[in-house]
Amino acid sequence: MEIAKQTREILRKHDLRLKKGLGQNFLVDTSVLDQIVEAADLSEDETVVEIGPGIGALTEKLAQSAGKVIAVELDQRLIPVLEENLSAYNNVEIVEGDALEVDFDQLAGGDYKVVANLPYYITTPILRRLLEEDFSVTEIFVMVQKEVAERMAAEPGDKSYGVLSFGVQYYTEAEIEFIVPSSVFIPQPKVQSAVIGLRLLEQPRVEVIDEEFFFKVIRASFQQRRKMIRNSLSKAANINLSKEVVEQALEEVGIDSRVRGEKLNLEEFAKLSNQLYRGSKKVD
Ligand code: SAM
Repeated sequence: MEIAKQTREILRKHDLRLKKGLGQNFLVDTSVLDQIVEAADLSEDETVVEIGPGIGALTEKLAQSAGKVIAVELDQRLIPVLEENLSAYNNVEIVEGDALEVDFDQLAGGDYKVVANLPYYITTPILRRLLEEDFSVTEIFVMVQKEVAERMAAEPGDKSYGVLSFGVQYYTEAEIEFIVPSSVFIPQPKVQSAVIGLRLLEQPRVEVIDEEFFFKVIRASFQQRRKMIRNSLSKAANINLSKEVVEQALEEVGIDSRVRGEKLNLEEFAKLSNQLYRGSKKVD
């Protein structure tokens, strides 16, 4: 049976109304499901954590390619549906829980990949959690809004380049795998989507003295994108540095003080923030 029809029948059978507030847009296109599994490049000795399995369309495909699938679903109404739909697979563990709170490492018990058609309302917090909290995740393949994927993978000069690009590329190698039209979901979201692959680096891409300060400098530089870096940094309330300290640091690391923040790459921001950090300590 065609998957869209099958999905509607399952929803009717269990008397389920999808909840917009939980980002419930179910995938109903077999070739997109296959493309996600292909991008994740799974083997039988690998464990996958799936966030938000819904009624299990992607989970089933993952179970056919991976050694083990741990599917974490928040909506308790979907748990019996998942149990029924996935009963043929003994390598699937269904966990009722909040992906923002469960301990993925404990559930997986070793290295794992994360694969998900994410509920869009938690895209940023879930990715921050996966990247910043030192989990044993090796690669992440997730469906997100197209614009968000573009921001994550953007490079200096791109119009989507911004704070999110740094947050993601500091920890990972990011690549957009493919774009997905809204027509492959029930119900259809208003925006286009994309699957992005994030391969976690062994070490963050650049060495910084203080990560929190590094990201504050980046945020300050992008707060007023059109301003010269010396002005955005010396006027930024979140870092509180004098114009002299800013200008001296820029000179010492060889960055033109009239350049805009959006022109600088991760390495340049690392050098600059380390220099500013040292400068700010001298002043203290
Ligand atoms: N994987 C299914 C598919 O591709 O058709 C469903 C994807 S749907 C976009 C997102 C799923 O995430 C929904 O089933 C929703 O109930 C679930 N969800 C929402 N918030 C969650 C959370 N905090 N933790 C775990 N699952 C969540």
